[in-house]
Amino acid sequence: MIYDLNKSENIGQKNNGEYDICIIGSGAAGITIAQRLNKYNLKIALIEGGSHEFSRQSQDIYKGKLMGDPYYPLDVVRLRYLGGSTNHWGGMSRPFDEIDFQRDYFGEEYKWPIKYKELNKYLSEACKILEIKNNFDYNGKYQNVKPIKFQFSTVQFKTKYEDFLSSSKNINLFLNSNLSDLNGENRTVKSIVLESFNKKKINISAKKFVFAMGGIENSRYLLWFQKKYNNKFFDSNDLIGKYWMEHPVFTLGKAFVKKTVFIKQYYSLTKNPQIKKKILNCGIRMHGVSSHVSKQMLKNLLCTAPKIGEKISTLLNKNLICGVKLRAAWEQSPSKNSYVNLSNESDMFGIPKIKLNWTKNDLDRKTVKETVNTFNDWFLENEYGRIQLSNWLLYDKSYPAEDELGGLHHMGGTRMASNKNFGVIDENCKVFGSNNIYIAGSSIFVTGGHNNPTLPIVQFSLRLSDHILSKLI
Ligand SMILES: Cc1cc2nc3c(=O)[nH]c(=O)nc-3n(C[C@H](O)[C@H](O)[C@H](O)COP(=O)(O)OP(=O)(O)OC[C@H]3O[C@@H](n4cnc5c(N)ncnc54)[C@H](O)[C@@H]3O)c2cc1C
Repeated sequence: MIYDLNKSENIGQKNNGEYDICIIGSGAAGITIAQRLNKYNLKIALIEGGSHEFSRQSQDIYKGKLMGDPYYPLDVVRLRYLGGSTNHWGGMSRPFDEIDFQRDYFGEEYKWPIKYKELNKYLSEACKILEIKNNFDYNGKYQNVKPIKFQFSTVQFKTKYEDFLSSSKNINLFLNSNLSDLNGENRTVKSIVLESFNKKKINISAKKFVFAMGGIENSRYLLWFQKKYNNKFFDSNDLIGKYWMEHPVFTLGKAFVKKTVFIKQYYSLTKNPQIKKKILNCGIRMHGVSSHVSKQMLKNLLCTAPKIGEKISTLLNKNLICGVKLRAAWEQSPSKNSYVNLSNESDMFGIPKIKLNWTKNDLDRKTVKETVNTFNDWFLENEYGRIQLSNWLLYDKSYPAEDELGGLHHMGGTRMASNKNFGVIDENCKVFGSNNIYIAGSSIFVTGGHNNPTLPIVQFSLRLSDHILSKLI
């Protein structure tokens, strides 16, 4: 059933008794958990701060301050209504690579407390939810550079699950219901307080609570409840909000490339050069450019390197080669200097808004530089074409401000760890020191890999559902 706290007069009656589980946030993470637990005859409350549709009033709660590296306004890089940011996501999907879970050689801050295979066992089910093929690699032996596959999902969680949520007997979805407070004691939340935009309030009691409010809000709410209640509900932890990560996305330059290489379009380095060069994971993407741009590129090449230019010109005329723009989206190193914090300004419910300090560091720069160098060597050794790097990379200048900047992937802040010296939640996504608060979404990531986060979010949410189930039945 769906209830709208802004409208319903009798919502209190629907709210009798205790839920088994209360999930706050109805994006990819929250809906995945609700639909997975639905078949077990549990009482599930799914809480959504926004409505069925976009509203400025709800979206304004996402406004915040930016510090650090240039980024986009925080109310633009996510959506605050049923289905969350999947209402405008690109659907680009690929799981973590195994190497992303094997970065211990960089130090404790890179250490996942679980093995890759524990996540990988949820891949096939997650692909079914996103309605994509479970097929992400090409067969073949690759030495330093390998082609990779992305799958493209057209699933929007609101469109896919709204009817299901409205007809489910086990799930009550509460819209316009904004988490504003916690009740309870001794590290146990007994109930949460929800407020509507027209100032109605209800309490929802449950045995277990999952914060699934997105890769920035999960940190925001833990920071707020820590500030308000100290360690009443969970261990005080100065790592909340820290290690916030994005995928930096920038144009690397242009290239002429053989069509047989271009056809695969996405590439990354294999494991060995990443380990050898002590860099993180980086994906390189090729985008075809118009024939006008190709001709301009050729003109420049003929001036600077006439011999190569002539060769390229012949191949271009035979339609064996094409002009492309090269872009990279890469893994950012987890760092305490990149963080989410509370600002001095509050939203309409009195909760401090966000201050985001996204910073990239030397290792981030080294990762993209070394990757592109290896990629360039591979190009030249195999005569795949010619790359012309952008000046910012070639001459070690600042990142260009007029570029894509980031993938709009919000990771870290409530990271998973084996103990609270290195993170905020344990391997089962439970907040350290809490008896019943769990976290879902990419805020739990220890490292971010270079792939888009939503497929892993769905995988982790399925894993969390199994864990919660094992505690409830
Ligand atoms: C333009 C764009 C393109 C993207 N493209 C891709 C892509 O191609 N591939 C990919 O993998 N990822 C992509 N992403 C990222 C992807 O959208 C997110 O990873 C994903 O939506 C996160 O899911 P989530 O459930 O963790 O969080 P969200 O989708 O943010 O959901 C959180 C939910 O919690 C609700 N909420 C927040 N605060 C409260 C509160 N106080 N009380 C109650 N409810 C609350 C919100 O309204 C929202 O519904 C893209 C993002 C953007 C912005």
